[in-house]
Amino acid sequence: GRVPLIAGNWKLNLDHLQSIAFVQKLAWSLKDARLDFNDVEVAVFPPYTDLRSVQTLISADKLSLKFGAQDLSEHDSGAYTGEISGQFLRALDCSYVIIGHSERRTLHNETDAVVAAKTAAALRHGLVPVICVGETAEDLETHGPSAVPVSQLKVALATVPQGADIVVAYEPVWAIGSGQAATPEQAEQVCAALRAVVAEKIGQDAADKTRVLYGGSVKSGNIAGFMRQPNVDGALVGGASLDITEFSNIARFQ
Ligand code: 13P
Repeated sequence: GRVPLIAGNWKLNLDHLQSIAFVQKLAWSLKDARLDFNDVEVAVFPPYTDLRSVQTLISADKLSLKFGAQDLSEHDSGAYTGEISGQFLRALDCSYVIIGHSERRTLHNETDAVVAAKTAAALRHGLVPVICVGETAEDLETHGPSAVPVSQLKVALATVPQGADIVVAYEPVWAIGSGQAATPEQAEQVCAALRAVVAEKIGQDAADKTRVLYGGSVKSGNIAGFMRQPNVDGALVGGASLDITEFSNIARFQ
């Protein structure tokens, strides 16, 4: 079976000093909760400037937490002011990198083609891309539940090699930060459709092992319903990942 992944996307929150205190407390909280990391993987996605501090703490304290970045450049090096390459992230022991978050698609004009190029860049450097897809409320009304996320994922996976190690996150734009999560049934329907895309594009074995996450107003109070769905393998958590008790309860998905 697939080991569930509970991922905390900090977005633009917590500086490098705050990140150390936060990760330390989170580790204690997960330890208190007797979380078994064989049963669930927990990852945090801090801002770039925190990554070195988080890496140092996790390695010094031998914590079982994983971490990754919130974005990367599609380029490996060169005249790209402000960009961060997959190579740099890998050198900091990042396991994952979020790609194509709706906030990047909308606020930074990231197209499906850019998302595909970034996915290729992540895989080129041994990072597991957490590919985010999701429809707006308007898309949902016009095209129905799965059409937009399915078409976004098809483009993202167009050049991905068979069997590649990826994570997919279904984050309906209308559910992000709105307090209006999708229902577990809605999430299941789209996550199943996305798994079928993974099978079609990179093979059935990859589809069987790929974690498909739900994201959008996940809280400790609604996580259990999502985790009961056969095609939902975890959550990408925004706001609630900044509250240690909340996030640690989500990781226990009681
Ligand atoms: P919220 O959990 O704050 O709705 O954010 C979801 C998200 O965008 C995670 O990437």
